[in-house]
Amino acid sequence: MSHIFPRHTKSLPPVAVGGEGCYLIDASGKRYLDASGGAAVSCLGHGDRTVIDAVKAQLDTLAYAHTGFFTSEPAETLADLLISHAPGDLDRVYLVSGGSEAMESALKLARQYFVEKGEPDRGRIIARKQSYHGNTMGALSAGGNAWRRAQFGPLLIEMSHIDPCYEYRLKRDDETPEEYGLRAANLLEEEILRVGPETVMAFAAEPVVGATAGAVPPAPGYFKRIREICDKYGILLILDEVMCGMGRTGTLFACEQDGVAPDILCIAKGLGAGYQPIGAMLCSRQIYETIENGSGFFQHGHTYLGHPTAAAAGVAVVNSMLDRGLIGQVQTQGAKLMAALRDRFGQHAHVGDIRGRGLFQGVELVADRESKEPFPPARKIAAKIKAAAFEAGLICYPMSGTIDGQRGDHVLLAPPFIISDDQIGELVDKLSGAVETALQN
Ligand code: PLP
Repeated sequence: MSHIFPRHTKSLPPVAVGGEGCYLIDASGKRYLDASGGAAVSCLGHGDRTVIDAVKAQLDTLAYAHTGFFTSEPAETLADLLISHAPGDLDRVYLVSGGSEAMESALKLARQYFVEKGEPDRGRIIARKQSYHGNTMGALSAGGNAWRRAQFGPLLIEMSHIDPCYEYRLKRDDETPEEYGLRAANLLEEEILRVGPETVMAFAAEPVVGATAGAVPPAPGYFKRIREICDKYGILLILDEVMCGMGRTGTLFACEQDGVAPDILCIAKGLGAGYQPIGAMLCSRQIYETIENGSGFFQHGHTYLGHPTAAAAGVAVVNSMLDRGLIGQVQTQGAKLMAALRDRFGQHAHVGDIRGRGLFQGVELVADRESKEPFPPARKIAAKIKAAAFEAGLICYPMSGTIDGQRGDHVLLAPPFIISDDQIGELVDKLSGAVETALQN
């Protein structure tokens, strides 16, 4: 009899007892290839000695000191490290404990920035349908996944949600990807004009949409146009790289590949790689200076801000990625994974799209390839793939509701950056078996 409040009360998970590289091990000794790094977390794999030693050393030195009284060496080092690689004018780092906290901080900072700047009418966030920004109230309000929001509707903050940039489903046949990217981005301008530019404070988006859509990259030029629109109306661009950042897509920051820099950027997951819970909000010098020259106080905060042990893990993780050439490995292994998926599923009658960047890839399942008709939600294809894969010793991240929170199924893959060629083969074999099992049921 457990006293844990589990995610699902009707199915008890096995007990995880160990991890080795790309594998997790349960109490019965069964090994699972961790092809989604949990939820795009375990970028260095399990049991990484460098990070474990760094965490242990920090615990021996100083486990915790409240940021109301102190700063700490690991927090300072991590902030310097992140800013030395961050795009654009990002200059300050606010260290939190996860992705939702990073997004909450971003939304509140955007608001306080405009209040202190003397534009208090700016209070509206525009985000996108089918995005996920976290489960706390502000982050959930920004998220555009209908299923996740539904029952909490009365508690959520009113925000605008424009269509995502989702080439596979929303690009017209008579459009080039570039034309589609422009049209999709222009939806932001339409919404700004509809609600009144003077009321909008920020646009929030995931550069590559993760959990809710299955590794959907933007069309070419999409974010360049988004940046232009934000600048034209004095609106902040908040990029949520909680899932797609920290090397996952083949560059340390995902937005580098789109040639844009945000005003506020959120990271988490891969920053701690699972060794510690940590997230961060990075903001531009201009935003910081507005607060610095104004109230001098960001009216926010959590007990575990800038946690020294978590920060020490973050330093070890980012240095490991950079020093071991792991981001280059994301590019080479990502290309191999994409090729293997295309080889196995490219002609599959029920695979409509294979997409992604680096080691962040998605496979979208369809009932019919020609019409792109999804499976009826009652078939629970994603849940069946997850169960069959787990049974076979493969951890992947299938989700339903890909299209609108209800219809559509995809499988998200985000393996550790150290995945070998053989393990890519194992991943694709096991995934293929799980897809066939799910389709037969
Ligand atoms: N933002 C994105 C893009 C995410 O994928 C997630 C989690 O999946 C979050 C925010 C929330 O992060 P956390 O679960 O660490 O609160």
